[in-house]
Amino acid sequence: MQQSVMKAWWESSHMAGGNAAYVEEMYEAYLDNAQSVSEQWRAIFDNLPKVDGVSVESKHSVIREQFRSLAALGPAARAGGAVAAASNNTSDEKQVKVLQLINAFRFRGHQHANLDPLQLWKQPRVRDLELSHHNLSEQDFHTVYNVGSYAIGKETLPLGELFQSLNRTYCGSIGTEYMHITDTEQKRWLQNRIESVQAKPEISRDEKVAILKGLVAADGMEKYLGAKFPGAKRFSLEGGDSLVPMLKGLISHAGACGTKEVVIGMAHRGRLNVLVNVLGKNPSVLFDEFAGKHDHSLGAGDVKYHAGYSSDFATPGGNVHLALAFNPSHLEIVNPVVIGSVRARLDRRNCTDGSLVLPITIHGDSAIAGQGVVQETFNMSQTRGFKVGGTVRIVINNQVGFTTSKTEDTRSTQYCTDIAKMVQAPILHVNADDPEAVLFVTKLALDYRNQFKRDVVIDLVCYRRHGHNEADEPNATQPLMYQKIKKHPVPRELYADQLVAEGSIEAHEIEKLISDYRAALDHGACVLEEWRPMTEHSVDWSPYLGHDWDMTYAGDISVEKLKELGTKLCTYPQDYELQSRVAKIYQDRESMIAEEKPLDWGMAENLAYASIVESGNKIRMTGQDSGRGTFFHRHAVLHNQKDGSAHMPLAHISAEQGKIEIFDSVLSEAAVLAFEFGYATAEPGCLTIWEAQFGDFANGAQVVIDQFLSSGEAKWGRLCGLTLLLPHGYEGQGPEHSSARLERFLQMSADHNWQVCVPSTPAQVFNMLRRQILRPTRKPLIVMSPKSLLRHPLAVSSMEELAEGVFHNVIGEVDELDPKQVKRVVMCSGKVYYDLLEQRRKNEQTDVAIIRIEQLYPFPQAQILEVVSQFSHVNDWVWCQEEPQNQGAWYCSQHNFWSCIPESAKLKYAGRDASASPAVGYISVHNQQQADLIADALTIK
Ligand code: AMP
Repeated sequence: MQQSVMKAWWESSHMAGGNAAYVEEMYEAYLDNAQSVSEQWRAIFDNLPKVDGVSVESKHSVIREQFRSLAALGPAARAGGAVAAASNNTSDEKQVKVLQLINAFRFRGHQHANLDPLQLWKQPRVRDLELSHHNLSEQDFHTVYNVGSYAIGKETLPLGELFQSLNRTYCGSIGTEYMHITDTEQKRWLQNRIESVQAKPEISRDEKVAILKGLVAADGMEKYLGAKFPGAKRFSLEGGDSLVPMLKGLISHAGACGTKEVVIGMAHRGRLNVLVNVLGKNPSVLFDEFAGKHDHSLGAGDVKYHAGYSSDFATPGGNVHLALAFNPSHLEIVNPVVIGSVRARLDRRNCTDGSLVLPITIHGDSAIAGQGVVQETFNMSQTRGFKVGGTVRIVINNQVGFTTSKTEDTRSTQYCTDIAKMVQAPILHVNADDPEAVLFVTKLALDYRNQFKRDVVIDLVCYRRHGHNEADEPNATQPLMYQKIKKHPVPRELYADQLVAEGSIEAHEIEKLISDYRAALDHGACVLEEWRPMTEHSVDWSPYLGHDWDMTYAGDISVEKLKELGTKLCTYPQDYELQSRVAKIYQDRESMIAEEKPLDWGMAENLAYASIVESGNKIRMTGQDSGRGTFFHRHAVLHNQKDGSAHMPLAHISAEQGKIEIFDSVLSEAAVLAFEFGYATAEPGCLTIWEAQFGDFANGAQVVIDQFLSSGEAKWGRLCGLTLLLPHGYEGQGPEHSSARLERFLQMSADHNWQVCVPSTPAQVFNMLRRQILRPTRKPLIVMSPKSLLRHPLAVSSMEELAEGVFHNVIGEVDELDPKQVKRVVMCSGKVYYDLLEQRRKNEQTDVAIIRIEQLYPFPQAQILEVVSQFSHVNDWVWCQEEPQNQGAWYCSQHNFWSCIPESAKLKYAGRDASASPAVGYISVHNQQQADLIADALTIK
């Protein structure tokens, strides 16, 4: 009998494999207080080996092993062991079931929570949340049970009370998902916070009034805009009105906890409302924008629902600086931008734990599940180079994506937030029609973030009162939802009724709040009580404004200084054992310092970084394999062969040097490049570099290049000095590893929006990198960086060439040709120059001059004209490129080339034929093509 009971128990119980967490839960309760678990469990746990002095995690692993081996023995053996010692005692079994019931609510209570204001969202019935599933019934309601670790503040409760409490805590307006977190401390912390107040803390009248004011403002703003500008797109917040009191509560609480800056990223939904009611943008400015007036200083400008804003916000802990990031319409891509901006601000404040700057990212429900960049940012969230001490992520879950319903079409997961589980972030679902619950989860989320330095998600379940925009007709696609929405009272009404009913406020006071808000909008001045003029932001951009792209600057440096820096670069701990190839590179570098060898690319680049940090500027470089360099050339980070430890000589240049950080990035392009854009737009004092493993990998970040880098200054007046190193060059490595798609950058070049450079010598890369930080201009720098040139015997420089301190936008003929004998001038950029030079020397030709255009944009016309003035008699001009004709510089820069040649001259193309693919995949075909194009460029017919 006992054996069969035990067998059934084992096979049906959580120990049978599926629910290790439950056993852990029991064990943790036992560890806290051995008396809190039943005798039966106590007997089992008493028999486990003692694990004092080791971490909680290893306790878990020990217990898992114990139970696994116990399970492997089979029921008979188990029955004869510790479990058999436990009696077939009904009340003990029920006690076990009660603890299982608590566990079930912790795991799955959210599925019965009242999350949808419209009550349309039907979650499946969860049997684990029913008493009968645990062999319990209402007849047990008066029996008192131990509640284990349930943090209600009592050790025991009658089942009836416990069941009611569990329902209140886990199935009310809040649905919490945290049991996927493996760290016991985090889980316990969340349980204590949620269970101790049954997910509904007492809140003061003042707080209630503040919430109501937020709702009045959110609703009042939309109604006002709707009446004043009917039919205009405003991407109304209506339905998700709680976002306003939520954000205000979050910022206020953050300030009270010591946060100094908050950076917010959000898409268009509700943005105008947030701008006015949370950031304090002047409503009259917004109304002017609706009326078509705009600020001419912002160049091309952008629509009002993409606009960013900066202000200060008064909190109990002092003023907090707020920055709402500018955002293109591409959903979710702003999130890594925000996080990068936060990292820059944290670095500036020397804050490594994230406590001083808070990122808040606001997502759409379809977008957070649909856009891959969200995964990328979660993946970055705990990595060395990208962590910011956690992000508070809020989903405005209006249960519809434009016209696509949440069921079946937008995702394959139960919740839109399931992606967050990849980093074990707690997920707090909340009914947006219960603004007190919203405020509770908001504070909880921030405290969790601050305590554990990790991401946390709030799923604000709401609805969208109008169509995707106000001109849209939502009934066409969501008829049932919109019939319901039409009859559904606005959040302000619901909450006001609640406060009146409980006696917290009088009805006439509400009327006054509404009319006061409307009057304030009529008046047009700032409506945000907490708004303060901006004094708390930490950087001044004015020195970087208003410079010409070709301004001069003092970039020279002495050869002695270069040697001194070079020596420091070659210094590493004495007991360091370098890998043999790396040791050889470092020996060569020592010879370069002694001027026994000319400088190569890797050394010149490292010298540039050394000189930049030595003068106090900062450097941040990230990318795929940046520490070593994809092509084994940089070796800025050394790895000790004895113990694997890393050492960066660049961090040991001088005591007063600027900070340098070089991180191998996560294997992402979109999020990493967006992050670095965010970093560079928040930190002008740092040379920020993103390097692609191969240039065409930048394709994966095309949205960042198109919508931020190329046009951010034109649209939003935001400067950005980010440098992109994109390996480019035709070496027969096939379609994907040859081209950084130069043509795309040139096609987007206008308004001096960025610099596109193709440096061809170590001195050029040295001076290009220095120019990027030493000149007070802050424009993106797009570099077609080399691969084979890294080791090309001709691509070398002298110390003097570095010391000269000038990046030459154009380099004229280097061989001593008699200009009069020159019959053709070949213009080119990049690696092909060396192929041309070598072939011409081999041919012993003196009738073709070769000039290199090292900066293709802004096009250095005046400098080229100067360099080619000695060839004014030449009528035969050629543009030579390795890329196919429809790619490279030929089509996008041709007008510029024409502008540099004599009027009567002809300009011919020498390069590959047009091709759909960037390069051929067969080395023999590549070699033939390359030989042909060189011959074509050099052969005068
Ligand atoms: P923020 O700290 O981002 O809120 O910026 C504060 C102020 O600095 C803004 O209002 C701008 O005037 C200026 N600013 C911030 N970032 C940039 C930038 N990338 N380029 C030019 N000005 C900026």
